[in-house]
Amino acid sequence: MKTAERTIAAISTAYGESGIGIVRMSGPLAKEIVSRIFVPYRRKNAPQNQKQTPSGAFVFRDRTMHYGHIADPKTGETVDEVLCVYMKAPHTYTGEDLVEIQCHGSMVSLRRILAICLENGAEPAERGEFTKLAFLNGRIDLAQAEAVIDVIRAKTGKSLETAVSQMEGKLSEKVRAVRKGLLDLLVLLTVNMDYPDEDIEEATYAKILEGIRGAESGIESLLSNADEGKIIREGLSVAIVGKPNVGKSSLMNLFLGEHRSIVTEIPGTTRDTIEEQISLRGIPLRLTDTAGIRETADVVEALGVDRSRDAFNRADLILLLLDSSRDLSEDDLSLMEAAEGRPCIAVLNKTDLPARVTEEDVRSRLKTAQVISTSLLNDEGTEVLKDAMEALITGGKVRREEDILVSNSRHIRLLQQALSELREAESMTKRSEAIDFIEVNVNAAFGYLGEITGDTASGEIIDAVFERFCLGK
Ligand code: GDP
Repeated sequence: MKTAERTIAAISTAYGESGIGIVRMSGPLAKEIVSRIFVPYRRKNAPQNQKQTPSGAFVFRDRTMHYGHIADPKTGETVDEVLCVYMKAPHTYTGEDLVEIQCHGSMVSLRRILAICLENGAEPAERGEFTKLAFLNGRIDLAQAEAVIDVIRAKTGKSLETAVSQMEGKLSEKVRAVRKGLLDLLVLLTVNMDYPDEDIEEATYAKILEGIRGAESGIESLLSNADEGKIIREGLSVAIVGKPNVGKSSLMNLFLGEHRSIVTEIPGTTRDTIEEQISLRGIPLRLTDTAGIRETADVVEALGVDRSRDAFNRADLILLLLDSSRDLSEDDLSLMEAAEGRPCIAVLNKTDLPARVTEEDVRSRLKTAQVISTSLLNDEGTEVLKDAMEALITGGKVRREEDILVSNSRHIRLLQQALSELREAESMTKRSEAIDFIEVNVNAAFGYLGEITGDTASGEIIDAVFERFCLGK
C-alpha cells in the first residue's frame, strides 16, 4: 500500500508515566476511526446539542478540541477520558487528515487507545513516518525534516536554536540559492555544448568561471561554521585526565555546578570512568572523568585499559590536570607525552599552594597544548579555562546573527563533495577544457546539493534519514 493510502497511528509522547500522553493518527481513515471510538461528553445528557451522522457517530469539527472518552466500539468498554482534535488535510503536519487523542500519560491507557485505533483500521506507524509524510507531501524538505529530530534531541539552548533555524528552512534557502546559480550555469554550459562546432569564446569561459566561483563561495561560507555546528549538534567529548589527587573530580564538579562526583582526599578511593552531559555556555559537552586511571600504578599503562583509554583516544578535547604544588612526576610526564599533538589544554591546578611547577615548565614539555593556571579550591582561573574551551570550539570566530550553522554530518559531507566537484570544474575551466567535461562536474555538484534538501535524494537515502527518528514523530 502506498503511504498516502495508509492511515497510520502511533503513541507520540515519551514512554513512561506522565500527566498526558498523545496518540496520533494520520491518513484518509483518521477521522472515521476517531468518530467511531470517541464518545463525547454531554452526549448522554444533551444529545440534541451534538452533531451526529445517521449512524450515530460523532461529527468532528476541524481544529476543535472535543472532550469525552475513548471507548472500544466492540465491547463498549470506556478506556480513558480524553481531549481529541481533528485537523483536516492539507494544512496539517503530515499534509493528510490528522487526529490527536490526548489521554492520561499511562502506558496502559496509551497502548489500549492505540490498539483500538489499530483494530478499527489504522496501521502502526514506522519510525519517523509522520515527518516522512510531511516530506513526501512537500510540506517540508529533507533538511527541514532532519532538523525535526535535532529539535527533539537538542541538549542545550544553542543546539535547539540551530535546529529550529534549520527546521524553519534557513539552510535549505541558502542551499537552494547556490543550486539556482548552478542551474543557470548548467543552462549556459548546455547551450554551448549544443553548438560544438562553433568556437567557444574567451568570454564564455570567463562567465563559466564566474558562475563556478559564485557557487563555491556560497558553499565555503556554509562550511566555514560547520565544525562549530557539528559540535553544537552532537556535543564535544572532553576527557579529564591526570594523576590521582590533582583535582579531576573538583573540575568535573565545577562543570556540573553541583557536587555530584565525590571529591576525596585519599588517592585511589574512586569510581569508574563517569560521563556527564553538561552545557558550557550553550555548547553541549560530554565530559569523562577518567578516574579509573588511578587504579593501576602506571597512569599511561592504565590508559591501555578499557574505558579510560577509550575516553582518552576518542576525546575531541583533553583537559590534562597537573598539580602545581608538586614536582612533575613520571605519570605527569607520560600523560603529557600521550597528549602531545592532540587538542589539549593543560590545567595547572592548586595555584593557591606554593609553586613547584610553572606554566613555562609545562609549555616546554607539552608544546602543543595551551596552559592555564587554576585554583579550583578558590575558583580562580576557571573563567579563563572556560573562555579557552569556548574559543577552541568556535575557532575564536565571532559569528554573526545571520550566519547559518551547518550541523549535520550528512549535509557537511555533501557540501564538501559539491565543493570538490566545483574546484575540479574550476581548474578545467581555467585550462579551457571541453565544456562537456566541465558540465559533468557542475552537474555532480548540483546533484549533491539537491541531496541536502531531498530534491535529488534517492529513496534509500530518504529511508536512512527517517530510520533515525523515534516512533510517533
Ligand atoms: P582527583 O583525585 O584528581 O579527582 O582530585 P580531587 O578533585 O578529588 O581533589 C583531590 C584533593 O585536592 C581534594 O582534597 C581537593 O579539595 C583538593 N584540591 C582540588 N583543587 C585544589 C586546589 O586548587 N587547591 C588546593 N589547595 N586543593 C585542591
